[in-house]
Amino acid sequence: MNIKQKIDDLRNSLREHNHNYYVLDKPTISDYDFDMQLKELQSLEAQHPEFYDASSPTLRVGGAVTKNFDTVAHDSRMYSLDNSYSKDDLEDWEKRIQRVLGDVPVEFTCELKYDGASISITYEDGKLVQALTRGDGFQGDNVTTNIKTIKSIPLQLKGDYPQKFDIRGEIVLPFEGFAKMNAERLENGEEPYMNPRNTASGSLKLQDSAEVAKRPLDCLLYGIVGLQTGITSQFQMLDKARAWGFKVPTVAQLCKSTEEVMAFVEYWDIHRHELPYETDGVVIKVNNLQHQEELGYTSKSPRWAMAYKFKAEQVSTVLNEITYQVGRTGAITPVANLDPVLLAGTIVKRASLHNADQIEKFDIRERDTVFVEKGGEIIPKIIRVDFTKRPVDSTPTKYIEHCPECSTMLERTEGDAKHYCPNYYGCPPQITGRIQHYISRKAMDIEGMGSETVELLFKEGLIHNYADLYRLSKEDVLPLERMAEKSAENLVAGVKASVEIPFERVLFALGIRFVGETVAKKLAKAYKNIDALMTATAEELVQVDEIGERIAQSVVEFFKNEANLIIIQDLKNFGVQFELSADKLENQTEDLKGKTFVISGVFEKVSRDELKKMIEDNGGKVGSSVSSKTTYLVAGDNMGPSKRTKAESLGVKIITEDDFLTLLA
Ligand code: AMP
Ligand code: ZN
Repeated sequence: MNIKQKIDDLRNSLREHNHNYYVLDKPTISDYDFDMQLKELQSLEAQHPEFYDASSPTLRVGGAVTKNFDTVAHDSRMYSLDNSYSKDDLEDWEKRIQRVLGDVPVEFTCELKYDGASISITYEDGKLVQALTRGDGFQGDNVTTNIKTIKSIPLQLKGDYPQKFDIRGEIVLPFEGFAKMNAERLENGEEPYMNPRNTASGSLKLQDSAEVAKRPLDCLLYGIVGLQTGITSQFQMLDKARAWGFKVPTVAQLCKSTEEVMAFVEYWDIHRHELPYETDGVVIKVNNLQHQEELGYTSKSPRWAMAYKFKAEQVSTVLNEITYQVGRTGAITPVANLDPVLLAGTIVKRASLHNADQIEKFDIRERDTVFVEKGGEIIPKIIRVDFTKRPVDSTPTKYIEHCPECSTMLERTEGDAKHYCPNYYGCPPQITGRIQHYISRKAMDIEGMGSETVELLFKEGLIHNYADLYRLSKEDVLPLERMAEKSAENLVAGVKASVEIPFERVLFALGIRFVGETVAKKLAKAYKNIDALMTATAEELVQVDEIGERIAQSVVEFFKNEANLIIIQDLKNFGVQFELSADKLENQTEDLKGKTFVISGVFEKVSRDELKKMIEDNGGKVGSSVSSKTTYLVAGDNMGPSKRTKAESLGVKIITEDDFLTLLA
């Protein structure tokens, strides 16, 4: 078989499997087989750049970086929707419609109102060519590169699709994926995201499409504009879109009367909690497209559509006490302890108050009766105080000034959302939190040890930091509560085994603020060992790909701290890995040491990722933006004009891909 044929076959097969998995939710091959096919296609495409295709399934993994999103005008405007809240509202609407259309039977399509970020995607000859955010409705941001990484959006359509059209829908982040992202953030000592909607729309504007590819985003489509085919109704249009490969939820329903519409609304008001993603209402549309055209638009919204908003569930209850939690990084979170109350199917006892500003803004006090709401947020929030029920002797909440755990004076730096306890070494939840992070699965993965064991060991005075773990003997831990002979042995063996954990994970385990898994990997790769990293200045650190000012500052702070240096020396003595292992260093040279590269554009012989790897493997650094510290700008096809201008004005040398390869020859 010739290569072109092979590539086409693989692309078709992967497309089909993507559709089965992400759109139909019915995979027909194993993840492993899918990955093997994808790898094969990736390698064929790398060897044969002449068969490049902007719709290839390999583009799903992302990689291209967008610095500035262009603003592009929508071919047809993206409107808002009018809102209704009752059957009366709907009946009024129906009367207005009948007045325009005359006395003809009118049918409605009911769909759910998905709560995410709107998107308008253009297809030409069956290929995805452009995706724009709603923006102000007239023009939006071009987020095509990022949108292409969302697996349920087809890059290539199937069937009898029209030559050109725009399709509109909502980018959503399903609850499950959202919860997973937050679990990871918490593990990395980062603030959790507030709700799926904002996270979904924020994701569209990430610069690195590879990051977008990692987010479990989904896209639900609901409408097509610019059609010149034989489609006559909204309902039929949804069916067609489904047949062309789009993900269109099947809960859409055709209704012949306001009664039927209300039944749909009432059903979903209850059952929406069973859906995997957020919805905030129902969208009712006049089904007949001819009728839609006759009805037309107001200055803001179509006259032929109406949103029926679900009521966010609210209950009122008494706030008994405000307590304060101290996280691993010292961040303080105020918590409202409530009289237990049933809300959206679960008993709620606590609500996050986020920070001091929140308490002040709503004037929330202990013994107040408050309204609690469960919107998109996983943790319920307090939306307002019922002032009529405020006790007469109530006094304003005074935010704590001292740490509830160690009494240290709290600090709040300009720009920080929260107060922090600066007692890094003496504050118990910070100490145990750091050790718990150190032993966690993604860090040192110490078997036979859990969070409670850490608390116990700390309480007994056996450990004060993670280096102390390596001093524990079986005899030390045996007297602990519920510790048997075997588990004591396992614990000590687990700690010992952790000296094999590679450097990049050790770096993550240290729990430096803002240094998550990915950042740890980048730093390990760039500096190769802890000694080099320890002496790096903030200016040097920001030269590393993806390392920003905030991270750089935090790394420098960490190593400025004498106590941290002692702990690291201890860990070194216990044999913990503080440099990249030999196999990672193989094929590596120091040929590019001291040189910083910025790469821009598309390359012929090697991919951007390969280029980055070659630079890092040979001791060079990859920067994300051109500065006076940049040694070379490696320029590919279609490179960003702003990078070129910047390089020229700073006198940074601009080299081609071939020039670069000869540097290494
Ligand atoms: P609003 O922003 O409240 O005016 O509501 C309009 C937005 O609802 C549109 O921009 C869409 O992004 C969104 N939407 C969600 N689901 C649907 C749907 N089924 N039909 C139409 N619009 C929808
Ligand atoms: Zn403290």
